[in-house]
Amino acid sequence: MNQYPGAPTGIKAPHGAKNFDISWPNGEEHRISNAILRGYCPCAGCQGHGGTISYQAGHDSSLIGIEAVGNYALQLTWGDRHDTGIYTFEYLWKLGELQASLGEEALSSLPALPETILIDGQHLYHHHELVSGL
Ligand SMILES: [Zn+2]
Repeated sequence: MNQYPGAPTGIKAPHGAKNFDISWPNGEEHRISNAILRGYCPCAGCQGHGGTISYQAGHDSSLIGIEAVGNYALQLTWGDRHDTGIYTFEYLWKLGELQASLGEEALSSLPALPETILIDGQHLYHHHELVSGL
């Protein structure tokens, strides 16, 4: 996995699309499927407080809203109005790298995301709590 290059330079997620396209300052581009993003929603409601992030299948993965959270993350809203997932840019980078190397099927079949991401997951919970407290 390449090193996180900093905040994305562009995001394309047209209404009705099945994928989320994101470009990075190092010139890389990632295509992350919306199903992957939803399945790996990092919020405590989806993941509990166990410290692991695992794929949660069977949820609505139509993306209906994207909002910036400060200058470090995106808040995604799904077709069932689920909107508590705060996706840091670094988390998006890592998901993108994983989908590029493993493919969508294998990525959604992992028992949990690798440990390098778990650390970020724990950060995400903190961010989530911060944002919720505002
Ligand atoms: Zn969630």
